Amino acid sequence: MAVNLDPDLLSILVCPKCRSEFRVDDEASELVCTNASCGLAYPVRDDIPVLLIDEARDTRETASTEG
Ligand SMILES: [Zn+2]
Repeated sequence: MAVNLDPDLLSILVCPKCRSEFRVDDEASELVCTNASCGLAYPVRDDIPVLLIDEARDTRETASTEG
């Protein structure tokens, strides 16, 4: 589902974890952090970004299983 966000809104949003800007992933309906070392993707529900680290998905392709 395409993400329909106001560009002005998107321009002021930053990752709550690392303060980097987002890119929009329309296929996944997510805002993806542009910081490669962060790589969190936040869900967009009803065109409202859910910028909660607890809700975010880690898109980094590291195979780390520690923790
Ligand atoms: Zn980030």
